[in-house]
Amino acid sequence: MMQEESSIECPFCGEEITILVDVSVRRQNYIEDCSVCCRPIQLEVFFVKTTLWFR
Ligand SMILES: [Zn+2]
Repeated sequence: MMQEESSIECPFCGEEITILVDVSVRRQNYIEDCSVCCRPIQLEVFFVKTTLWFR
């Protein structure tokens, strides 16, 4: 399994958190708990070449 570190901004507290994404899966949906405020962030991750997209 290949994993890559990426940072996102938490929509709840605005802090930047680092997440690990499995880059072998092209499209994924999962929930990551914010390491700062502990609230669940719904992540939809797409890979377009090496670009990560979140929403
Ligand atoms: Zn947060």
